[in-house]
Amino acid sequence: ATAAASAASPPHLSDGPFDPYNCITSRLPTTASAGDAARTPRDGRPLAGWDVAVKENICVLGAATTCSSRMLSDYASTFDAACVHRLRNAGATIAAKTNCDEFGMGSENVHSFHGPVRNPAKAVRDAAPRPEPAAAAAWDLERERVAGGSSGGSAAAVKAGLARIAIGTDTGGSIRLPAAYCGVVGLKPSYGLVSRWGLVSYADSLDTVGVLGSGIDDVEAAFDVLSAPDARDPTCVDASARRRAEGAVAAALDVASSSTTNGGGVVEGLRIGIPREYFPRELHPRVLAPFRAAVHRLREQGAHIVSVSLPTTPYALSAYYVISSAEASSNLARYDGVEYGYRASAVEGQSPQQEQQHPYARTRSQGFGAEVQRRILLGTYALSADKFDNYFLQAGRIRREIQRDFATSLRIPSVLGHGVAASPLSADKDKDGVDVLLHPSAVDTAPTLASALGFGPRAGTAQERQDRILSSYVQDVLTVPASLAGLPAISLPVGEAEDDGWPVGVTATSQWGCEKILFRIGRALA
Ligand code: GLN
Repeated sequence: ATAAASAASPPHLSDGPFDPYNCITSRLPTTASAGDAARTPRDGRPLAGWDVAVKENICVLGAATTCSSRMLSDYASTFDAACVHRLRNAGATIAAKTNCDEFGMGSENVHSFHGPVRNPAKAVRDAAPRPEPAAAAAWDLERERVAGGSSGGSAAAVKAGLARIAIGTDTGGSIRLPAAYCGVVGLKPSYGLVSRWGLVSYADSLDTVGVLGSGIDDVEAAFDVLSAPDARDPTCVDASARRRAEGAVAAALDVASSSTTNGGGVVEGLRIGIPREYFPRELHPRVLAPFRAAVHRLREQGAHIVSVSLPTTPYALSAYYVISSAEASSNLARYDGVEYGYRASAVEGQSPQQEQQHPYARTRSQGFGAEVQRRILLGTYALSADKFDNYFLQAGRIRREIQRDFATSLRIPSVLGHGVAASPLSADKDKDGVDVLLHPSAVDTAPTLASALGFGPRAGTAQERQDRILSSYVQDVLTVPASLAGLPAISLPVGEAEDDGWPVGVTATSQWGCEKILFRIGRALA
């Protein structure tokens, strides 16, 4: 691994003319033999001729896989992740790696060794001449918006037309949030459908690999390629669970079409629930008009819209941050400066205080960014002997309540048998239950880079820092419940906020394994 690591040091192309958004971290040679075949557009394979960008935390043979961390800034992978392998076999070319928040931790893609990503949505909408590539220092931070995180580079690359689709990862919203902020489609698949072998773990009980694309057809085609059993990922389900899920989808669509007279429309007869708790105090009113317009279009096409309640939702965010940080603290223990990764140099150039630090501590304080260190501390605290019951166990209880909420409101039974609704469609579930839940993807349009990075009169004060950290966590409030429950969720672009002109997304969530129903919603809103 070390030999490959030092040999391959792909150029950083964020200064190149084609990427003024800092979304690409390295561009891969596309002339390799596999690439040549892939570049023949019509060779019968589903993704033939597609240029795909892959997030920095997913291994691509010979490419830098830094997780946007100094800790892995020298690491180049010696193998392809399972998802990359499947994409190549389907004819795709892996064209670039994309920027992200360090190890996937963040909502704004500003916590990155490669620097922040700039949101291309408005420039693309206005067909503005591509901005001159300028160092982030020259950006107008009060006007520029974040791309969202942690898969911000993937969302921006798709929006800017630098890749046909991009692969991202979603632990608590990292595909859906940047998709919403940049105005593209982002799918977080059901937990266990897409292999994570070759993904650098953040929080294993939540991590998923998914797709961002500019249209629903591209996202569905890529999902069909990625979703497959893989014995190397023990959480990746076998063929029989997949068949049962297909059966559940077919049954749900049967029920939907039998409750209508017209037939034909892709969402005809589907029951769509709007969860009351997904309109919290933090939700900015500017996202409501595009959301309502989307609901109206679904109703016009024959969907039944009902109001539902998922009462545990307000507790999801705290449970998520306890569980994800706890798992992260354990996962990231492997970066110790001994086996691999960054190692702090011996003593020279260090302060006297640092000289006294143990090399392990010095390596980790220099190798990890501030946000990652915060999560490690938070997670270690939650796992410590006398705090465990109050934090980690409690968070697990909330997680089960959240799963129960979904199971109660969805009429499609779970084929995995967790939650309470493992029974076939029951009479009153058929009456009250829904096939899909629909809500705004985010509480607002993308924040400005200035607010995410901390500029302005109060910048740098303890209060400002605390507010900024909290506001970045709160951006996940609408995405973490589906992650805790392992359910598939898709963010769909539905226009712009009237006052600021930035994209707004809506998210559809369904039962485990019911991605095909989500694609129907996507088609109806395309
Ligand atoms: N913003 C969330 C976090 O920082 C989600 C990140 C993700 O999905 N990878 O943990």
